[in-house]
Amino acid sequence: MTTDFLVRRRTRQVRLGHVWIGSDHPVLVQSMTNTDTADAEATARQVFELWRAGSEAVRITVNSAEAAAAVPVIKEKLENWGCKVPLIGDFHFNGDRLLRDYPECAIALAKYRINPGNVGKGSKRDEKFAFMIEKAIEHDKVVRIGVNWGSLDQSMASRLMDENAKLARPLPVEMVMREALIRSALDSAEQAIGWGLSPDRIVLSCKVSHVQDLIAVYRDLAARCDYPLHLGLTEAGMGSKGIVASSAALAVLLQEGLGDTVRISLTPEPGGDRTKEVVVAQELLQSMGLRSFTPMVIACPGCGRTTSTVFQELARDIQEFLREQMPVWRNQYPGVENLKVAVMGCVVNGPGESKLADIGISLPGTGEVPVCPVYVDGEKTVTLKGDQVASEFQAIVEHYVSTRYGEGGAKRADNKIIPLKAI
Ligand code: SF4
Repeated sequence: MTTDFLVRRRTRQVRLGHVWIGSDHPVLVQSMTNTDTADAEATARQVFELWRAGSEAVRITVNSAEAAAAVPVIKEKLENWGCKVPLIGDFHFNGDRLLRDYPECAIALAKYRINPGNVGKGSKRDEKFAFMIEKAIEHDKVVRIGVNWGSLDQSMASRLMDENAKLARPLPVEMVMREALIRSALDSAEQAIGWGLSPDRIVLSCKVSHVQDLIAVYRDLAARCDYPLHLGLTEAGMGSKGIVASSAALAVLLQEGLGDTVRISLTPEPGGDRTKEVVVAQELLQSMGLRSFTPMVIACPGCGRTTSTVFQELARDIQEFLREQMPVWRNQYPGVENLKVAVMGCVVNGPGESKLADIGISLPGTGEVPVCPVYVDGEKTVTLKGDQVASEFQAIVEHYVSTRYGEGGAKRADNKIIPLKAI
């Protein structure tokens, strides 16, 4: 896949622990926990799961004294489990007090997310914001100035609305509100720099919940500054609605070279898996050719020519198998994330698509001879049949990975993933 035509916006670069945001660095995937941060064990486990799924930075809510006290405990637990993912503290309303009273929390976090609309009101607002910036400077931390449509600085919004009302031809309200979002972020960044924060420690975001507004806001914001931008559609929603809306908005911006880190704000199903937001972010970036995270499974949609569920089960099992292996394969087999595996439902497109992939299998459609030719690097190598097709094909994929990507070319992938229950 070529992305030669895509020119990334030139930005400053910001160091976040062992990863970077901005400039030519790959677009960073981040996520956020939904556990009570005061429950250090549950939060550490969820951060670990998000990191294991591929999240390169994880944000946690820091909303109370108990939560702030838990932050260093969470970090220590993660380090004991071999996880050094940068932690981002999400502060609203009382961040100044928590950073003052819990210096270990201030030190443990790699980045502070500060929402200028939720720092405080009137003269107290600047005082509290300045104190948080002072703490960021003292501990050499990155700050994301994260403006949100739902908690926009009301004094800024009112001022711009008043100015607009006095114009001979007032602008539509939505335009004024978008300008208020952008001005809130840019003015807050200027304030922070005025208090001594380096511009190389700032990331900006202006999140809204409608796709067209988000695109308009980020285009404008990007044209007016060179800070790295955190992209995300806020309150994207649940299930396919959240995935489609986030992908639609972020794809347009990423295609224009805008955006240095992404978070997909999906509402999980009750009891659902929080790592879904990481998987969606990775799949978005990978399907756009911007990054590679996991071997790609090319599967046909199926149709009336393949009426059994064998083909769907094999496509699902191979996809899950590949994703499960990645925490180990990522280090053991560099480059394996570029692997392409085809699982096809019948002879119409099966052999052709399988030959184009690194490994492909063409299953028999209804009425076809019940055999499954396997293609490796474009050549038919074996024909599988019987009840063990799935496990045999999985073994072929595993062998291919170990020989193509392993050190010395012939090492088997016999490392086991650390099961979560073992930590
Ligand atoms: S490859 Fe065969 S089963 Fe799959 S969509 Fe095409 S015609 Fe249908």
